[in-house]
Amino acid sequence: MNINNASFILLVCILCVCNPFVSAGQKNCVPESLYQRWELMAEADKKSNIQYKSNQIPLLNWPLRLASGFNYPNYYVINNYVDLDSGPGIEDYNCGAKSYNGHRGTDIDLDPFEWQMKNEGSVDVIAAAAGTIFDKDDGIFDENCNTSPCPSNTRGNYVIIQHDDGSRTLYYHIKRFSVTSKNIGDAVAQGEYLGKVGSSGCSSHPHLHFEVWNSQLDVVDPFAGSCNTTTTSSLWANQKPYNDTGINRIGTYSSVPVHPEGNGACPNTHNVNQKNHFTRGSSVYIQGNLRHTLSGIWAYIKVRDPNGLLVADLTYTPPTDDRYFLNHTFNTSLFSVPGKYTVTLNYFFATVTHDFWVTDGCPSNRTLSNETHNADRWYNASQTITSNSDSNAGVETLYNANNRITMTPGFSAKNRFRAYLGNACIN
Ligand SMILES: [Zn+2]
Repeated sequence: MNINNASFILLVCILCVCNPFVSAGQKNCVPESLYQRWELMAEADKKSNIQYKSNQIPLLNWPLRLASGFNYPNYYVINNYVDLDSGPGIEDYNCGAKSYNGHRGTDIDLDPFEWQMKNEGSVDVIAAAAGTIFDKDDGIFDENCNTSPCPSNTRGNYVIIQHDDGSRTLYYHIKRFSVTSKNIGDAVAQGEYLGKVGSSGCSSHPHLHFEVWNSQLDVVDPFAGSCNTTTTSSLWANQKPYNDTGINRIGTYSSVPVHPEGNGACPNTHNVNQKNHFTRGSSVYIQGNLRHTLSGIWAYIKVRDPNGLLVADLTYTPPTDDRYFLNHTFNTSLFSVPGKYTVTLNYFFATVTHDFWVTDGCPSNRTLSNETHNADRWYNASQTITSNSDSNAGVETLYNANNRITMTPGFSAKNRFRAYLGNACIN
């Protein structure tokens, strides 16, 4: 039976004092005490004979976005939907079992490095639709990583928006001290910042628990599907597919990055080891992060050197999985061409690229004499670079030294040439 099946709700309301939140279930992301608080607040609203401006739940936009300054190909995996089975069974809107018993919202995980992404604040929680702030809380510890049992203080940081028709959306587990400074009752626009994704409250890892209630405070699953009787049409302006297959990240690392999810590390104990500059002869660890992989769809990783020459060409056959990592170790042998390398990941109609640099290390001082090369090239020195010419048939040359770059009189460069002071010899 579905939790919002009309006859069930009616029956509950006849038999007892109507609790629109039905039974909370111990395992839900949000504790019963908060539902009771919101129920009382909503009852007070009702008594004031509030007039709603609309009689329809507004169409919802995605409640997350990349924060400004971050440009990851993608950043989330949907982990759990609403459990629409009111008994001990589990059923999501698509008649699958991507949920857990008693779950009332949609859990959207950060991916692939959830703790790092939480710490850097790379994902904003935003208002799915316009409205006013109905309730909010902040200041609660946000690095919970174990839900069995939940920490004694199971409350998390959150915002609730009340929309024009009296429906509400809940944004839960928000990062500590990131909740909007707006006050209860203030208006918010669709897409307006509400906070950052965190792991406050009953949470095993940084994720957003997004929950929708209609004006009667019944939980509504916004995803339209054959097993969802809480809404006949999708509440999303653009509903994401059940298998939201795609690429979340391609990157280079000094060693294989460690993912804490599933290995008990908790929290912040993983070392992502991101690295984009490598000394010639060292190993480059490449990882591609896919979401909702489908068996039978091949993935491809290609690495091209500064001349555009294909130097690694790999094919993967991922199984069906919520998240899947592709790993490859690329050796920058001393025969490799120094300069900018490009790694390309192709999967399910998407192509994502990432650049990394291979240089001849970082001596204190470097003297270049009649330098000629046929590809892009980067020269680093912790102190000085001195050069008399640069004959580059490639696209560009970069000099990067911490203290001084000297071009001797008569210096000429055949092609694009850049020189930077500072930041040489880092990662
Ligand atoms: Zn949840």
